[in-house]
Amino acid sequence: MKKITVLGGGIAGVEAAIYLRKEKFDVTLISNREYVYIYPISIWIPTGEKTLEDVSLSLIKLGDRHGFQVIFDEVVNIQAKENKVLLKNKGEYTNYDYLVLALGASKLKPSGGENTLTVCGDPEQAVMLKNRLEALVQRGQGKIAIGFGGNPKDPSAVRGGPAFEVLFNIHHFLHKKQLTNNFQLTFFAPMENPGARMGDSVVDEMNKMFKTLGVETRFGKKITQFVPDGVVFEDGSKLDSDLTMYISAGTGHNALKDSDLPLSNAGFVKIDDYCQVEGMDNVYAIGDTAALSGPEWKAKQGHVAEVMARNTAHNISTREAGGHDFIGYEKHLSILCVMDTGNGAVYIQRDDVHAKMTLMPLYGHWLKKSWGIYYKLSKMGKIPRLPGM
Ligand SMILES: Cc1cc2nc3c(=O)[nH]c(=O)nc-3n(C[C@H](O)[C@H](O)[C@H](O)COP(=O)(O)OP(=O)(O)OC[C@H]3O[C@@H](n4cnc5c(N)ncnc54)[C@H](O)[C@@H]3O)c2cc1C
Repeated sequence: MKKITVLGGGIAGVEAAIYLRKEKFDVTLISNREYVYIYPISIWIPTGEKTLEDVSLSLIKLGDRHGFQVIFDEVVNIQAKENKVLLKNKGEYTNYDYLVLALGASKLKPSGGENTLTVCGDPEQAVMLKNRLEALVQRGQGKIAIGFGGNPKDPSAVRGGPAFEVLFNIHHFLHKKQLTNNFQLTFFAPMENPGARMGDSVVDEMNKMFKTLGVETRFGKKITQFVPDGVVFEDGSKLDSDLTMYISAGTGHNALKDSDLPLSNAGFVKIDDYCQVEGMDNVYAIGDTAALSGPEWKAKQGHVAEVMARNTAHNISTREAGGHDFIGYEKHLSILCVMDTGNGAVYIQRDDVHAKMTLMPLYGHWLKKSWGIYYKLSKMGKIPRLPGM
C-alpha cells in the first residue's frame, strides 16, 4: 500500500486525508495544531456566540474515525526532490511515496501589526478580540476599527469577507446591548471599493448597509502603520481606535521559502489543474498553500480547498491504477459565500456567469450556523455527506 503524507491539518488537509483513506492508501497527517480549526465559523468568537472548542475538531478523533495516523510537529522545510521534510522536533521525515502540501498561507506583516488582532490567524487572537471587546463594553463606550489589506502580488490571497462579517456581528452585538450610540465603528481598507471581487452589486449593498448602520468608512488610502491607538494612513491622517481588527492578506507559507518547490511571486506553490506540483512527480498542493490559476476574481476559499483535496485523492488513485481520468479544480472556481451579518446573511455567488447577491434574513444566519454543525458531524461520519460538500 502506497504511503501518503499530508502536511497540514486544516480544511484541505483533513479532507485529503479522509478521501485518501477512502482510496485505501496508508495516510499520515502532520499538523502543528491538535485540531482542525473551522475558520468560517470562528467569526462568532469575538462576540461570544462560539467558543474555541465549538470551532475545533480533534485530529486524533478524525484519524481514529477514518484510519489515518497523526503526527503533531511543525514543518520547517521541504526538500521535495530528495523526498525529505524537515520537522521542528522529529527532524528529517522521509517516510512517504507521495506528499500532499496543505499548510495554508502565512500573512503579510504590516508595520505595527502587533497593535492589531485578527480572526484569520492564530485561533487565540479571536479569543483576545472577544476579551478586548468585552472590556470596552464594560467601559461603556469606545472606537472600533475593522479592516483588511491587499496583496498586489496575488489578489486571490486577500481575505475581506470575514472583516465584513465581524463588523456586522459586532454592530449587532452592541445593538442588542443598546450600546450602538456609545461606539464608533469604522471599516477601513486601502482599496477604493473593498469587496469589488465579489461583484459591483455587493459593493453597493455593503455601502448601503454601512450607511444604514451608521458605520463610518475609510477607503482608498494606503495604511502606513498601526499604532496602539489607531491606524495611520499615507496622507498622514489617523483613524483613532481602541480596538483594531485587521486582516492582512495571505502570502506563501514561511516553511516553503527555502524549499525546492516552484513558487509564484507571492510564494504560493505552483500546480497544474490536477493539483500536481509543477516539475515534481510525487508532490501535490491544495487549498490556501497553492497558487490558483483562473479568472481574476478567483479567491482562496474553503470549498475550493475541499474540491482540490478530493480531486487529489482521486488523481493519485487514478494514477496508481494506470488511468488518465484526472479531475481538475479550475472549473470549480467560484466564490460562494454566506456572509453573516449577525441577524441574517448575504449569499454571494461569483463565477463566469454570475456576480450576484441575495439577502437572506434571519434564516441565513442559522444556515451558516447549521453548516458548522454539519461540518463537524459529517467529517466524523455521524451524518451522511451532502453531494459536493
Ligand atoms: C475567518 C475566516 C472565515 C472564512 N470564511 C469562509 C467561508 O465562509 N467560506 C469559505 O469557503 N471559506 C472561508 N474562509 C477561507 C477558508 O477557511 C480557507 O480557504 C481554508 O481554511 C483553507 O484551508 P487550508 O487547509 O488550505 O488552510 P488552513 O485551514 O489554514 O489550514 C492549514 C493547516 O496547516 C497547519 N499548519 C500551518 N503551518 C504548519 C506547519 N509549519 N507545520 C505543520 N502544520 C502547519 C495549520 O495548523 C492548519 O491546521 C474563511 C477564512 C477565515 C480565516
